[in-house]
Amino acid sequence: TRITNHLPTAELQALDAAHHMHPFTHAAGLAQKGARVILRGEGCWLTDSEGHRILDGMAGLWCVNAGYGREELAQAAAAQMRELPFYNTFFQTTHVPAIALAAKLAELAPGNLNHVFFAGSGSEANDTNIRLVRQFWAAQGKPDKQVIISRRNAYHGSTMGGASLGGMAAMHAQGGLPIPGIVHVGQPHWWAEGGEMTPEAFGIARARELEAAIADLGEDRVAAFIAEPVQGAGGVIVPPASYWPEVQRICDAHDILLIADEVITGFGRTGNWFGSQTMGLRPDIMTIAKGLSSGYQPIGGSILSDRVAEVIGGIEFNHGYTYSGHPVAAAVALANLRILEDEDLPGRVGRITGPYLARAWAGLADHPLVGAAETCGLMGALQLTPDKAARARFAAPEGTAGLRARERCFANDLVMRHVGDRMIIAPPLVISEDEVDMLVARAR
Ligand code: PLP
Repeated sequence: TRITNHLPTAELQALDAAHHMHPFTHAAGLAQKGARVILRGEGCWLTDSEGHRILDGMAGLWCVNAGYGREELAQAAAAQMRELPFYNTFFQTTHVPAIALAAKLAELAPGNLNHVFFAGSGSEANDTNIRLVRQFWAAQGKPDKQVIISRRNAYHGSTMGGASLGGMAAMHAQGGLPIPGIVHVGQPHWWAEGGEMTPEAFGIARARELEAAIADLGEDRVAAFIAEPVQGAGGVIVPPASYWPEVQRICDAHDILLIADEVITGFGRTGNWFGSQTMGLRPDIMTIAKGLSSGYQPIGGSILSDRVAEVIGGIEFNHGYTYSGHPVAAAVALANLRILEDEDLPGRVGRITGPYLARAWAGLADHPLVGAAETCGLMGALQLTPDKAARARFAAPEGTAGLRARERCFANDLVMRHVGDRMIIAPPLVISEDEVDMLVARAR
């Protein structure tokens, strides 16, 4: 039989279980209950094979910023496939979609971030960054300046390089990670780790861990610090206001490159084009993916400052991917950026839907199980706790309460994710105020 939308759900699920290995999934457990089959999407809504309409509070995987069902993106893909479905940019050739997208990103990115190295995903882009920052110093006669400092509970991708940069214990446990030359410091997660300190004092303390690590290693051995402006997969952890200015000061003082991983925070999510703008950072490199194409095509990249690009441009940089600057992905990304710009979705998040969500979300803080309700633009987190005043955790294993809450939401046709006992959202940027109300009501 041909496998189409019209097969009964149970048959699709059985075939899925028999042949399809899902990422980050316990396959045998999933096979028992069957994966939910998603057929189509429109705006913020998904339809499954049983005809349920599901409110997608996660924009897919934090990526469908422009919302589902954008006909102009389908048109852009089809037109580019007809014109030139593929060509590489390795051997002294280029093509118009890659040129146009790179130029557009140089215009949108803040400061002197003017040069783009394309990849197929966020993980690949971070692998690029590992090699890039090490080469940046080696090319200037500093071959020992190699160590990259990252943070515990960071997420920078799933390749060996990306997972090594990341600070997820479960990923390090599988595969003998991390690769050498990566050091982790603490995250600015006040609720979980701040103890008796005020959030502001804790933010400074966590930034100073970076400075201590630099002192420990010696400044002439540290190439870069990488971080998400707001941790996403770690549980939407909005840092105390004191944190980022101190980190920026430390990077400047010790001549350490700052890599802002904007894979989630880029393209409007925090109410500006980039999370670096929201947090007041001046990164030397930005990692981008996800919202770059609103997930309509797989594409990522690294945006480099003039200073970094000048040094890297002075050597032959032995790195790249078959799909670096893929013409169809680039054409779709460009059309997507036009939508974000024409509809001023970053500005709408900053002025309208972000503040609206912040107010509605804060209303959940009176729920007996909610210890903290935080947002930044259109990212949000609810910390579940059995005892708010004590900032207590549920009994081990961590995440049992979060998983139950997530399953309850999903059964009520709301996609919300859980990271341990933290419930998180990142809806499409096209979400309306009525839909925000619906999301918050279902979450409650
Ligand atoms: N960096 C961050 C901050 C991410 O959130 C992700 C994915 O969630 C990645 C990198 C990896 O991107 P990809 O899954 O496209 O490889």
